[in-house]
Amino acid sequence: MTSRIVVVGANIGGGRAVEALRKEGFDGDIILVGAEPDLPYERPPLSKGFLTGEVTDGEFSVATAESYAEKKIETRLGRHATALDPAAKTVTLDDGETLGYDALLIVTGASPRRLNVPGHDLAGIHYLRTAADSRSIREDLASAERVVIVGMGFIGAEIAASSTRLGKQVTTIEALDLPLAPALGREVAERMVGIHRGHGVDVLTGEMVAGFEGNGRVQQVVTASGRTVPCDMVIVGIGVTPNTSWLEGSGIELDNGIVTDEYCRSSLPDVYAAGDVASWWSKRYGRRMRVEHFDNAGNQAVAAAKVMLGQDHPYDPVPYFWSDQYDISLQVAGMTTNHDQVVFRGTVESGSWSAFYLAGGRLTAALAANRFKDFSAGRRMLRAGTPVTADQLADEGIELKTLLA
Ligand SMILES: Cc1cc2nc3c(=O)[nH]c(=O)nc-3n(C[C@H](O)[C@H](O)[C@H](O)COP(=O)(O)OP(=O)(O)OC[C@H]3O[C@@H](n4cnc5c(N)ncnc54)[C@H](O)[C@@H]3O)c2cc1C
Repeated sequence: MTSRIVVVGANIGGGRAVEALRKEGFDGDIILVGAEPDLPYERPPLSKGFLTGEVTDGEFSVATAESYAEKKIETRLGRHATALDPAAKTVTLDDGETLGYDALLIVTGASPRRLNVPGHDLAGIHYLRTAADSRSIREDLASAERVVIVGMGFIGAEIAASSTRLGKQVTTIEALDLPLAPALGREVAERMVGIHRGHGVDVLTGEMVAGFEGNGRVQQVVTASGRTVPCDMVIVGIGVTPNTSWLEGSGIELDNGIVTDEYCRSSLPDVYAAGDVASWWSKRYGRRMRVEHFDNAGNQAVAAAKVMLGQDHPYDPVPYFWSDQYDISLQVAGMTTNHDQVVFRGTVESGSWSAFYLAGGRLTAALAANRFKDFSAGRRMLRAGTPVTADQLADEGIELKTLLA
């Protein structure tokens, strides 16, 4: 019988899981362990409204101490789990406390990859993952004029947009020849990069950072090709790695994250994983996936909580995420990789457009910029496996939802 559940990782995955356990009627002990000092909160505003001042501290919390006390959810915040002993069924924390569990959910997420080049420890060089990171960037942004962003994935692109909105002069430095192409495909990435350039961002591509220079504080970035970019601050966003180092020696199977099946079960008995740290089996796509998006983290953690309570439904979503840049609200569903055709509806100039990705004539992903109707229909088509043609998708005379019937 499960009478104590320990959840390690107290962000959106951990937060959604403990709420779901109580909602589903679990009345045993729940202990939520988190390395950050905060109760679970939402990270998305940290690169957007929180940087620009449109969202204030506290507005992105998802739980309160009172609600946890009411639901009898115990917390250990500001504490790292340092070891897992699957035979004894215990988790050890950095202050020596040992927590026994009947079932354990690991939602330890991911941490920013570091850029260890000369000058990496100068003041004014930032990474963004936590609320504390975002506060520190915001403070520096207040007095900075020239901002360099290293890496132009979603985090870099969002910070570029937010900094531009604040009137900063922004340069992005990206190793790839086309930023955002791995996530969005070349066709859409070209549109997005054009939008950034249109807002005055100097997008440097095919450039590797060789070092940072400055007198105690970063003053310029030097690239491998010899270019120097003067700056007042730098934000590095070059991807993340799953937080699994504390599991070394536990015997849990790791492969770019914690390996799980479609029921969020790891290779160890009664140990589950979800969110950014999980490398899970997708029956829908017939492959392993590790998704670094908000919606997945919360939904998968809820799915794991239900499996822990004996409800064996596989977790098998069509992946979804969003990103806000300038006045664009981008929504993406499905798999944007491995397509051979992209069909657009609408233009960048009109401020509202969508893109449909096809492989071998089959719809694999839908993306929309400020076009909720197209997106909603596309997402439903993906879920249902609706057969549609590129010509139908491209024809703006056809309302897409009519194809669903
Ligand atoms: C700035 C920013 C903006 C984002 N914007 C969007 C967006 O617009 N749209 C979108 O879809 N997604 C977005 N994301 C991604 C989304 O926030 C993540 O996918 C989500 O936070 C993952 O949740 P998680 O709970 O799996 O992991 P995390 O959020 O990484 O949380 C894991 C928690 O576990 C803790 N932890 C790690 N190791 C240990 C340990 N050993 N012991 C105890 N605790 C530990 C960590 O400190 C952390 O608090 C954004 C992310 C960031 C950083």
